Amino acid sequence: MIPPNESFFGALQKKGVSRRRFIKFCTAMTATLALPSRYVAQVASALEKTKKPVLVWLQFQDCAGNSEAILRSSHPSVLEVVLDLLSWEYHEIIMAGAGHQAEAALQRVVKEEKGKYLAVVEGAIPLADDGVYCTVAGKTALSIAKEVCSNASATIAAGACAWYGGLVAASPNPTGAVGISEAVPEATVVNLGGCPQNPANTAAVLVHYLTFGELPAMDQYNRPLFAYGRIIHDQCERRAHFDAGRYTQEWGDEGHRKGWCLYKMGCKGPEATFNCPSVRFNDGTSWPVKAGHGCVGCGSYNFWETRSPFYDRLPNVPGFGADVTAGKIGIGITAAVAGATVVHGIASAIRDRMRTAPGPEKH
Ligand code: SF4
Repeated sequence: MIPPNESFFGALQKKGVSRRRFIKFCTAMTATLALPSRYVAQVASALEKTKKPVLVWLQFQDCAGNSEAILRSSHPSVLEVVLDLLSWEYHEIIMAGAGHQAEAALQRVVKEEKGKYLAVVEGAIPLADDGVYCTVAGKTALSIAKEVCSNASATIAAGACAWYGGLVAASPNPTGAVGISEAVPEATVVNLGGCPQNPANTAAVLVHYLTFGELPAMDQYNRPLFAYGRIIHDQCERRAHFDAGRYTQEWGDEGHRKGWCLYKMGCKGPEATFNCPSVRFNDGTSWPVKAGHGCVGCGSYNFWETRSPFYDRLPNVPGFGADVTAGKIGIGITAAVAGATVVHGIASAIRDRMRTAPGPEKH
């Protein structure tokens, strides 16, 4: 952590992070935020001067996948920079303190940093039976969330479970699990959907907050538009195969080995929004479709219910009838396919030109 009298960049230099690597991080964050490159200097300048805000990371009904995602980041990038940008005061799986000592640290933040600290919530919050299905230090997750998040300047819901309950809230939802916005309606929340969320997006939200003093623009689900503003299908590297009618018909077939479109294998990319194709996971290495599996729409609201069965083909793709195209290819009506592909291409072009803002995701 940075001593109070030391600049953020000075601390990074002491850790061997060169200015070049720091600027590279700022450039990556600016790109993730979908800001023009001229903002790189502003981001770098703001981060260099920033006073570290305090951050607490709460874990409730979760698998720790979102913590793992951010802790596995490399570069000077996400983990190193974010850890140094913020005074990380409480995070169950990484903090040295334990027991009463750890809980005292959380209480100190709530009392002494009231209205100034940031909270990250990972996992769902059970409401059934007075919240007994998740307790930490003898307190229910609900009471902790109410105390911590209602006094935070902003709360980041990291992952599907913290957003709306995720897998934990899937039917029949025996613990009455909900997300942080429902549990603590008075909290200021930005939802980072995904299973897990992408740590680059978490870092970008924090960088935006530190650079501009406010949370980024959000959609109707309080998800940041820079990450959830575009349909995956429109960003996918397999899109040319979709447009040309080249589909994987079964796992391991020639089309699958050649990287053809996974629409027929149940890919939900045509209905889901997320920036996976551009940001990718594991420091930009890959994302599910690149790795050969269809998108399951994990960044969508209630995806365990609304996007399953994950391997069933979408019954139709709104706006351009690709289902018809794919079906016709399947039974070999070549002429019809050629016509449909042309019509689809025209419809896609018109749709892309008309799209100025993302429409609501289908539930
Ligand atoms: S259907 Fe899926 S694999 Fe095919 S282009 Fe769209 S997002 Fe990519």
